[in-house]
Amino acid sequence: MSGHLILIGGGHAHLTTISLIDEFVAKGHRVSVISPSSHHYYSGMSPGALSGTYSSQEIRFNIQKMVEGRGGTFVYDKVIALDPRRNELILDSGGEISYDIASFNVGSRVSSATIYADSRSVFPVKPIINLIRSRKAVDRVLKQEGGQPVITVIGGGPAGVEITAALAALADNASSLAGIRIITGGKILGPYPARARELVIASLSRRGVQISEDTTVKHIEGNNIELEDGNILSTDIIFLAMGVKPSPLFLNTLLPTGEDGGLLVNSFLQSVEYDNIFGGGDCITIKGMPLDRVGVYAVRQNPVLRHNLLAALEGTPLNKFDPGPRNYLQLLNMGDGTGIFRKGNWVWQGKLAFIIKDRIDRRFMRKFQVSGELDEPE
Ligand SMILES: Cc1cc2nc3c(=O)[nH]c(=O)nc-3n(C[C@H](O)[C@H](O)[C@H](O)COP(=O)(O)OP(=O)(O)OC[C@H]3O[C@@H](n4cnc5c(N)ncnc54)[C@H](O)[C@@H]3O)c2cc1C
Repeated sequence: MSGHLILIGGGHAHLTTISLIDEFVAKGHRVSVISPSSHHYYSGMSPGALSGTYSSQEIRFNIQKMVEGRGGTFVYDKVIALDPRRNELILDSGGEISYDIASFNVGSRVSSATIYADSRSVFPVKPIINLIRSRKAVDRVLKQEGGQPVITVIGGGPAGVEITAALAALADNASSLAGIRIITGGKILGPYPARARELVIASLSRRGVQISEDTTVKHIEGNNIELEDGNILSTDIIFLAMGVKPSPLFLNTLLPTGEDGGLLVNSFLQSVEYDNIFGGGDCITIKGMPLDRVGVYAVRQNPVLRHNLLAALEGTPLNKFDPGPRNYLQLLNMGDGTGIFRKGNWVWQGKLAFIIKDRIDRRFMRKFQVSGELDEPE
């Protein structure tokens, strides 16, 4: 029997399914992909795009072309709600669309709700497109003559570190007077081995970055950062990198969610309540399998989602997701041609670490950049 599969979000976990839409179509199924953007940006290379190592074309996939070129329908929209009893998705444009099988890969957002007031100089690091959009503002501040412009990154996790390192590299290259600052509520790379912390702190300090640990931000108003201790820091640009939360899409729906609002799925990546709903990436919580919200797992979910979505349409058995080793390889781009390599407690820094990261990232891009992305205008 033929069915209608809808993929909501063309994120990291849906790429294999999207690249094989023709397989679904050949079996008589309809496939639609709903996304608010024709392109999907790969987070692993995004700090490199901020520092100018990569162009924006090099770090993105043309989802729309990939879908349409394989016989699917691309819907340029955003899902804002759903009714799983009626199998209906409600779109931002006001329309409704019904599915037989739906899969969500709508990502996460920076957990900043309590402190963030909207401003043109504040850039949450998710969605990744914000980093591309920030480049003009960063350029302007780095070229500012006179005064003492400052760019502040809030958050001392891997994303905050990589963004800070990218900004330090840009400031160095431009011989800019601008100061780069990183503020974090706890310690830089708190849960990492001490060696990783030492290497990051040494690398950023050497490049003149001002590091404030154990400093909690209470509120951001315009270009002022109010700290918990009452101090106010003035800044020209702010990047928010205080960790992520799943997309709020599943709150106020009938779908069971995890504590942080992620779509609650079983080990088949299938909603624990509605067996025609699946999901992958940062927007899901797997029951009994707590995982870091990192692209590594979204990427590992690709083959299982592709198999299970087709199996659900055809009524054949599902496969279980195996997250693989939890001590996955982490490679931080330090913006100066070096990287920090971490696998469990094994940590070192050098040019080779960046070369390894660059090779892995480019190999991933080549696999899904199948629509002439490198020849597109910026
Ligand atoms: C600066 C930075 C660097 C990082 N580097 C790494 C790294 O090197 N390695 C690593 O493993 N992890 C890294 N991460 C973490 C990584 O970004 C996430 O884990 C990864 O993006 C999760 O992929 P995803 O597909 O679930 O979500 P996303 O990449 O956020 O994709 C979600 C997609 O859904 C679409 N969407 C959103 N809402 C809707 C809606 N309502 N309707 C329809 N579509 C919607 C969006 O347009 C987007 O295309 C990094 C994160 C940051 C911020």
